[in-house]
Amino acid sequence: MGASAAGLFTAANVARGGQPVRVLESKPQLEPAPRTLIVTDHFRSQMAASAQHSIINEIRRFELFTDGRSAQIALKTPDLIIERSRLITALAQEAKHAGASLSFDTRFLGVGPNERGLRLEIESGGKRQELHADSVVGADGAASRVARAAGWPPVETVPLVQAIVHLPKDCPPDTTRVWFIPDDTPYFYWLIPESAERGALGVIGEHGRDTKRRFESFLEKKKLEPLEWQGARIPVYRGWVPVRRQIGNGEVYLVGDAAAQVKVSTVGGIVTGFRGALGVAQALLKKGASNELTGLRCELGTHWMIRRALHHFQQKDYSQLVDLLDTSARESLGEIHRDESTRLLWNLIRRQPRLLLLGLRGLLMGQRAKN
Ligand SMILES: Cc1cc2nc3c(=O)[nH]c(=O)nc-3n(C[C@H](O)[C@H](O)[C@H](O)COP(=O)(O)OP(=O)(O)OC[C@H]3O[C@@H](n4cnc5c(N)ncnc54)[C@H](O)[C@@H]3O)c2cc1C
Repeated sequence: MGASAAGLFTAANVARGGQPVRVLESKPQLEPAPRTLIVTDHFRSQMAASAQHSIINEIRRFELFTDGRSAQIALKTPDLIIERSRLITALAQEAKHAGASLSFDTRFLGVGPNERGLRLEIESGGKRQELHADSVVGADGAASRVARAAGWPPVETVPLVQAIVHLPKDCPPDTTRVWFIPDDTPYFYWLIPESAERGALGVIGEHGRDTKRRFESFLEKKKLEPLEWQGARIPVYRGWVPVRRQIGNGEVYLVGDAAAQVKVSTVGGIVTGFRGALGVAQALLKKGASNELTGLRCELGTHWMIRRALHHFQQKDYSQLVDLLDTSARESLGEIHRDESTRLLWNLIRRQPRLLLLGLRGLLMGQRAKN
């Protein structure tokens, strides 16, 4: 269920393994909304050649700003800027090429057991229908109806807003800028160039209206005019969501945003959603316990720990964080990407042990705020 990143990636992998697959999508046709995304180089190893066309720019440097301070990080392997509408189109081609069929204007409504597997209730072209299947994969996003129908608790979400802007003259097209302004958001603002002319300026907040208001005032401060808006609610990972449930003799799985497979430190869900999709495809093809899911769980857990350490940071903590990023720590951040967070974290702490103390203080502040 869901013909977006995670659903189409699952479909292509299961169909390639020789199983019959049908993808159901509620939208009337394959017309994915444009969205500028940044991913690590790990994306290249996940994708077949056709999806490489979705890469529109490469990022070689990060600049971090907080309270008048800044730090630059040179990336050893560039991050990639991808255009989501191109990616989804390429993934749909791949899924079809592998043998999957795609049905649009088809909405999932509910699921229950039948004698063999699962009975699905759907609405297609305005008419209610029943379908039968051995397994269902919910790739229907953060507000997953599949998850709700199969008894998973809802995942918490936060608002993400992005505006396409003219790239400021002083911003090189290979450099992503990040601002930590804890009075505005416990997350951050970013500017990711998609070309020499345009970039995506964005923010993640906690409350929709408040996030939009602060974002507009940030745009004004930076003297940037929004050319287009992009946005949606993003799941917050707060612990592993078991990806499989049994209903009668059938199996229901979740992948991508539906299973909160999002790195909650940076709120990126493409690479991790693909990992979840691959893991579920392996499980469906009965290739035994999936290493991919074990690795993904560990990865998401590390990002959750980093988020908890950062989430209650005040201005002085961010200032100290940026001050602690000496040459050696910046090298670590430039050498190891954020889809290998455990290795990155240990390497960083080994080179700058005071970061560990800062992180522990952050965790303690979070604990106190909870109590
Ligand atoms: C503005 C923005 C910027 C982002 N930037 C980044 C970034 O830079 N890097 C990164 O890694 N991630 C980023 N993300 C997150 C990333 O886009 C998501 O994690 C990812 O797209 C989730 O993919 P998905 O396939 O799991 O879900 P979705 O893309 O939400 O797809 C769900 C699909 O299911 C369909 N559907 C829903 N309900 C039903 C139903 N009942 N029946 C049938 N079909 C249904 C929907 O129409 C949709 O096609 C960003 C998100 C936003 C909003």
